[in-house]
Amino acid sequence: MSEAASYSVHDGVAVITLNNPPVNGLGSVLRPGIMDGIRKAGADPQVKALLIIGSAKAFSGGADIREFNTPKMNLPPSLHEIIDVQDACPKPMIAAIGGFALGGGLELALGCHYRVALPKSQLGLPEVKLGLLPGAGGTQRLPRMVGAAQALQMMTTGNPVSAETALTLGLVDEIVQGDLLAGALSFARKLVTSAKGPRRIRDMTVKFEGDAAAFFAQQRLEVGKASRSQPAPLEIVACVEAALNKPFDEGRQEERRRFQSLLAGGESKALRHMFFAERQTSKIPDVPDDTATRPIRSAAVIGAGTMGGGITMSLVNAGIPVTIIEMQQEALARGLATIRNNYAATVAKGRLRQEDMDQRISLIKSSLHLDDAKDADIVIEAVFERMDVKQDIFRKLDAVMKPGAILATNTSTLDVNAIAEVTKRPQDVIGTHFFSPANVMRLLEVVRGAKTAKDVLATTMKLGKAIKKVAVVSGVCDGFIGNRMVEKYGQQSLFLLDEGCSPQQVDAAAYQWGMAMGPLAMGDMAGLDIGWAIRKRRYLERPNFVYSKVGDRIAELGRFGQKTGQGWYRYALPNRTPIPDPEVEKIISQYRSDNNIKTRQISDQEIVERLIYALINEAAYILEEGIALRASDIDMVYLAGYGFPPYRGGPMFYADSVGLPKVLASIEKFQQGYMGEVWKPAPLLIKLAKEGRRFND
Ligand code: NAD
Repeated sequence: MSEAASYSVHDGVAVITLNNPPVNGLGSVLRPGIMDGIRKAGADPQVKALLIIGSAKAFSGGADIREFNTPKMNLPPSLHEIIDVQDACPKPMIAAIGGFALGGGLELALGCHYRVALPKSQLGLPEVKLGLLPGAGGTQRLPRMVGAAQALQMMTTGNPVSAETALTLGLVDEIVQGDLLAGALSFARKLVTSAKGPRRIRDMTVKFEGDAAAFFAQQRLEVGKASRSQPAPLEIVACVEAALNKPFDEGRQEERRRFQSLLAGGESKALRHMFFAERQTSKIPDVPDDTATRPIRSAAVIGAGTMGGGITMSLVNAGIPVTIIEMQQEALARGLATIRNNYAATVAKGRLRQEDMDQRISLIKSSLHLDDAKDADIVIEAVFERMDVKQDIFRKLDAVMKPGAILATNTSTLDVNAIAEVTKRPQDVIGTHFFSPANVMRLLEVVRGAKTAKDVLATTMKLGKAIKKVAVVSGVCDGFIGNRMVEKYGQQSLFLLDEGCSPQQVDAAAYQWGMAMGPLAMGDMAGLDIGWAIRKRRYLERPNFVYSKVGDRIAELGRFGQKTGQGWYRYALPNRTPIPDPEVEKIISQYRSDNNIKTRQISDQEIVERLIYALINEAAYILEEGIALRASDIDMVYLAGYGFPPYRGGPMFYADSVGLPKVLASIEKFQQGYMGEVWKPAPLLIKLAKEGRRFND
């Protein structure tokens, strides 16, 4: 038997123990052992029942991701074959679930006849999150166990249920207190004593009451709306319908067919790309995985404004004590009150316990003196976006911070090297570019300066993970990866207005395509004053900076977006739903006539191409300049920080799936159109398109 699965017999009960760390992935090293164990137990007359058990931490997390896209994935036996043998086994079989049973792990447990679990266990079928459906009988067995409605809920959201819920649903038969093996063995013996045999789920009927046709029609509507018509959730609905209406084996065939078609489809490829892209971000070619990191036991944050408050929350949420430092008492009090109110709102919604809020708040110390940062292992500066102010603070930090402390800046546009240079320790200086609201947004750009030490980079990346961010390395440039690209996206959104679109037309096209919100609504959310301030700087710094000034006209009126109740839309505060505003139409149309701009009808397809290809083209420059380490890092920036639709895999993955020659051809066409001079196809895009290659090779 393979080492990944061991076999033993305990007083008439065969125990197959899964041992394939870290999550008991059902890889090619584990599957044969399970199969052998079931066969051996079936053939041994001394064995009266079988138990499949993992560790207290993991029954099984499903397919072994390390084998994805490798031939090992298809080595026999498959999970199907194992479950067929489970079904044919004449002796009762129990899954003893510690930790979690997810995906294929839960399907294996559903192949068993009974299930017991530890109180903290989680059970779920999350395949939908990778654009797939449970392909080893899960869509047919789960509805037979818990009913059609509940199974749909679990499979279309992919969210697991607790052991307690599973018990109520009948998905587990008993919750074991104390030692899992002992409890499961005692459950097995009870079965043997009471002569209870196998209870095959395939022989059960799906629990459902009511008008099935109406129920499934309604489900299709709701699920389609929630998923913006992505295929996987709708295919799951079809499989559950088959579970109800068809014999088991026919339902299984249907599941198989639909699984295969999802596997070959673009959405699942994109979601799987995202899954791997996220795991790639921490790999830095010249910084080995085993680089020694510096301990981060405490932090200081300078500035208790919008970002400083959110950064502080991110740190204390992960148990890292923070000293937050402001210039003036009033600003400090305001910042602390905002933090408190944010937590209180989460408590009110029932998403945080009061004692957890109190514990987090107790980790925050506040001060009006920069000196109080001196003992922190990392200090993160989040003051006004001005070079002189930041350099002044870094000079002072250099004087007070203990040796070896990391000095980080949250600047969004300034040169991290110029900030580092005012200190005597540029090797300890790094950028940590959080996104607003910093306690919510998952993206963190970690900006590597010219002199940043490798262990400082490794430590900051590790800290990013500890505070549950997707940390992506960026080189130094104006706007780093994300904002440098978004400037081109915003530029096109305004040119589209110039040429005849309304804000709602641009936003609706982007939203329909899958963006979390359109570019103009996004501007309103971020604050139109911020972009305006940056543009004013650009007009001075870059004589050839081309941008429609229609956005300036809006901002000049004090229409800063959601915070002022007016921007590209109107807002009936506190509601943040954008309401189209005839006033804005007038401003845009005045701007067009002042500048003699001819308008035309623009299709949604053109809107989307101009917005998304603007991102892609700038990303190609960023990749070529080495600002991003790899194309998939750029994808992660957009997926984690800019509301890019996961099922399109990020801008680079999307470009690859459209085909680079096609993207290039469109860009060349845009060069002939309105403000065509801003479209200069990136040399890397031209090269790869010519060579028939992809960004994500
Ligand atoms: P903010 O104006 O809300 O907060 C800045 C705070 O810094 C103010 O409370 C101010 O009193 C304080 N401050 C100024 N000088 C100080 C000093 N010498 N010592 C201590 N405190 C001082 O600004 P913000 O939006 O939080 O932005 C902070 C930084 O984060 C900027 O560099 C900005 O570019 C960057 N950033 C902002 C966003 C965003 O969406 N707001 C996103 C990413 C990065």
